Amino acid sequence: MKTEISRRRFLQGSAALTVVGVSGAASALIKIEEKSEIANFALTKTQITGKLQKIPTLCEMCVNKCAAMARVEDGKLTKLNPNPLFPKSRNMLCARGNAGIQALEDPDRLKYPLIRVGERGEGKFKRVTWDEAYEHIKDKMVKILDEEKDNRSTIGFCAGEGMAEHTYASFMKDKIGSFNFVNHSSICLATTIAGYTLTLGGYGQADLDNAEYVIMAGANRAEAIVTPDTMDLFKRTKGRGTRLVVIDPRFTNTAAHADTWLPIEVGTDLAFVLALTYVAFMEGHYNKRFAQENMSDFEAYKKHIINNKYTPEWAESITGIKAEEIRKISRDFMAHAPRSIYYQGRRTAWSHQDYQLRRAQAIFTALGGGIDKKGGIVFGKKLPLGEHNIPSPSYDNAKERIEKDKAAVVGSSGSWIAWRNTVIDGTAPYQIRAFFAYKQNPMLSVPNTKKTKQMLEKMDLVVVIDTMPSDTVMMADVILPESVYLEREDPVKTFGGSEPSIALRKQVVEAKHDTKPVIEIMRGLGEKLSKPLFEISKKYDESLQGEIADRGEAVVYKEEGYDLADGYRHSQTAINHHMVASVYGEEAWDMLQEKGVFYPDMDKFFKKRSVNEYQYYPEHEKSYSVITGDLINEPYHDTCVDTEEIAVLKKDFRTATKKVACALYNLKEKKGIDAMPAWRNELYKPTPEGRFRFITGRHGQFTQSGSSNNALLLDLLSENHLWINKRVADEKGIGLDDMVEVKSSIGAIHIKAYPTEKIGSNVVFFAHGFGAESSELTLAHHRGANDNLIIEDHYEKAFGSAAMHETIVDIRRV
Ligand code: SF4
Repeated sequence: MKTEISRRRFLQGSAALTVVGVSGAASALIKIEEKSEIANFALTKTQITGKLQKIPTLCEMCVNKCAAMARVEDGKLTKLNPNPLFPKSRNMLCARGNAGIQALEDPDRLKYPLIRVGERGEGKFKRVTWDEAYEHIKDKMVKILDEEKDNRSTIGFCAGEGMAEHTYASFMKDKIGSFNFVNHSSICLATTIAGYTLTLGGYGQADLDNAEYVIMAGANRAEAIVTPDTMDLFKRTKGRGTRLVVIDPRFTNTAAHADTWLPIEVGTDLAFVLALTYVAFMEGHYNKRFAQENMSDFEAYKKHIINNKYTPEWAESITGIKAEEIRKISRDFMAHAPRSIYYQGRRTAWSHQDYQLRRAQAIFTALGGGIDKKGGIVFGKKLPLGEHNIPSPSYDNAKERIEKDKAAVVGSSGSWIAWRNTVIDGTAPYQIRAFFAYKQNPMLSVPNTKKTKQMLEKMDLVVVIDTMPSDTVMMADVILPESVYLEREDPVKTFGGSEPSIALRKQVVEAKHDTKPVIEIMRGLGEKLSKPLFEISKKYDESLQGEIADRGEAVVYKEEGYDLADGYRHSQTAINHHMVASVYGEEAWDMLQEKGVFYPDMDKFFKKRSVNEYQYYPEHEKSYSVITGDLINEPYHDTCVDTEEIAVLKKDFRTATKKVACALYNLKEKKGIDAMPAWRNELYKPTPEGRFRFITGRHGQFTQSGSSNNALLLDLLSENHLWINKRVADEKGIGLDDMVEVKSSIGAIHIKAYPTEKIGSNVVFFAHGFGAESSELTLAHHRGANDNLIIEDHYEKAFGSAAMHETIVDIRRV
């Protein structure tokens, strides 16, 4: 299907859809074209006769949560405008954010609860009431948990990132009692969180506003997360104050804004960083005082780098980046330090060496002293919120997570690939018999879609909570429709950083359909499940039996949290009110309700500087350096690092040694993970001649598969294309829009080609999020290709994170 809305029309505003009132996807597009002039005219100020409201919300079109002011006329949402008060989004909504209005209006939305009536995956459902849906889930869960003798972990669950993720996860984990949780972390940023946290004590925030030198490797901020600090950074590149070096096998839009773009062999970034470090050590270009004061096992690390001969020439042979370039970047980085950042990265699920790569980056940045320092990586402050405690029962028979031994460290967010594979390969210590999914679409988001389907097919019960009929929803037995973000109030959130604030997503309009926010779904499920599941625990849980004998059933049930709905009975607004007013008072709550944003002294600090420039905190109030220690005043000259900016503050990092951890001997001893970042040849597989390494990533207007049915965004990119090197494509007789087959060891897809010089000759790429199978997604159905049909299910063995760039493919024209 071809979308018809023009780009100009899209940019005119997202208002038209609400007024036109779409009823079917194809016809909706035609109606917009026909009626747009009237629709837009109808929204001019003079035409408003009814009540006009401005209601603060937070965007949910990606994870960034930019603040918006919704314009609501007579109860109808007519426009989303950026909210200038929020330091994080600084009066900006990107294209996706503007298209959020269509999330509300999408005619394909899930509108009421459904129960499957056909075969699983066949797409046949019947409409039911919420109570019937809960009853169905209860019957299945009682049977499963009785047969599994109250092993609560037989129920697996997953979640995508979102403000209500914690509400859902705490219900499934703390109330239902399962350990088998998997979220987006292991298919996203688990390795960079682990690498930076173990090395520096936290992931931190790259202070791009004040950095003078930034290396961004594989992080495509111009397209993956188009936020104000990204845009502001681009205003300062190319001789305007910040040097940006982009390392990427593709010439992305981020690379287009850079001062230097260096294509690299996929999977070799660790060799590049080790060589940068080698140069710094050999030439003495690093912040010696910072190293002496703040880095543990520093001399051992230096010896390790030098003795292993991680020379620029060695790195050139692996990465393809010239040795002289590596020397220059290392010197330039240190010359600008401490205002130099090796950007941490976001979705770092690339290769088998990701975790050590992130450690090496963090240590290299620390060598310049740019940690907990303006222009470097800062930790900032977080404004505390009041507590909302939920009593959680303990279940003696709940067993440990099934994939805990499949990687050295598997945390509470799990390893998606290892977990799923364990369910289906027969190595699980017990069966996973039920699966709950919230706001995640593993059929499209986890490598190897066939295996995810196999996993879901094995379940006795699949429950999915979502807003759209995704491929995962189509595999469900019970579908519980969530209200979209504009129809609900979510848990209030505190945003840390150098300019901390608290922000609120308020309900903007009444729910259009028979949908509910997560807190109400948890309440309904809790009320239905509490007593029947308590009976099962009474039957099998000896500790509970003892407690009941001692204290009486009614007391234990109430005090130990077996009433599964007890934490969810208050409205979200009442909980938010308590969490804010109990710490900052009623005035703060009032301000938050009205403005959507609050921080102490906001009324004093916030100033409009020019047409679109704002001050949130005066410079001296910003929290750049927050780690305590003794300031050493003497200037230190034995370094190339700018003495004016020298970072000589003795820190107190949140690591075991309280210093930047160059070596982690404990992890080596207990888990067999290299104590110091080291290149491992055996973990790197060069791309064979004539074949291609497949890489995936985001497009600027799409947020994974979540926005794939959005009519407004499809106008900007109607499907994904295969990026293939132009000369290679010519040799293969492949032209623009020719259909090609991309085949890996696990499957093949067909996709249109985009021959370009912007990608290396042994790499191919296409954007993630397309290729939905669900026929209920009228616009997204069979549009483009699903990358996870060909991405093999490799995962790195330190933290169980997906290694999505380890797949080798063949290409042919079809
Ligand atoms: S970056 Fe765009 S999509 Fe993401 S939260 Fe902000 S406005 Fe929404």
